Amino acid sequence: MESDTLRLNIESVLERVRLAARKSQRPDQAVQLLAVSKTRPAEDIRRAAALGLSDFGENYLQEALEKIDQLRDLDGLRWHFIGPIQSNKTRLIAEHFHWVHSVDRLKIAQRLSDQRPAAMPELQLCLQVNISGEQSKSGVSLEQLPELAHAVLPLPRLRLRGLMAIPAATADPDVQRAAFAALRGALQQLQRDAPQLDTLSMGMSGDLEAAIAEGATVVRVGTDIFGPRQATAADG
Ligand SMILES: *Cc1c(COP(=O)(O)O)cnc(C)c1O
Repeated sequence: MESDTLRLNIESVLERVRLAARKSQRPDQAVQLLAVSKTRPAEDIRRAAALGLSDFGENYLQEALEKIDQLRDLDGLRWHFIGPIQSNKTRLIAEHFHWVHSVDRLKIAQRLSDQRPAAMPELQLCLQVNISGEQSKSGVSLEQLPELAHAVLPLPRLRLRGLMAIPAATADPDVQRAAFAALRGALQQLQRDAPQLDTLSMGMSGDLEAAIAEGATVVRVGTDIFGPRQATAADG
């Protein structure tokens, strides 16, 4: 995409983040922008990095590995895996990413723990929660979350940081906020036993203001940075 468009898009998203943070009396730095670069060419990521972004989110492992390799020369990029995880993919995720936001089963966490190379820093982890209770969505239920979190916390080579959710899409800000508030409430409950948990990965292009109002510490933004995506069967 055009560098000028990309620069304007990034400035405008950062301004939305700042305004939303201020409105909730939160410092600007309390909210990290994660640029979701799925389906985008490595060149777009290179341009975004030159414009100051450092954290990139990918959903499809093979595509991500190619881009990580193409951008090896850039220092200081952090790669976040945010897509559904099949157990035969965990090794490559453990070997190539800094963060994983989409863990929703103990088996996946155990494999990531076993497969994280000893020479790398701990893999930073969020548990994905199915807030809206939709059958089709990934994520652990709110009911099963405490048991999963307590099983994941002691695993070596991983650091559980918090929770991630993708609520059902809606344009109604009150409905958006209610879903994000439920995720915040779930984190607060876990924090009673695990006060080190500090991450709420929630909010995308269409609902980042509502997410920040409810305490998001990471917003995952694709479309409003890189423009509309071509729809793919696996998108979402
Ligand atoms: C694609 C995706 C996003 C970004 O969504 P946009 O609406 O393009 O901002 C965020 N999080 C996850 C998990 C995604 O798959």
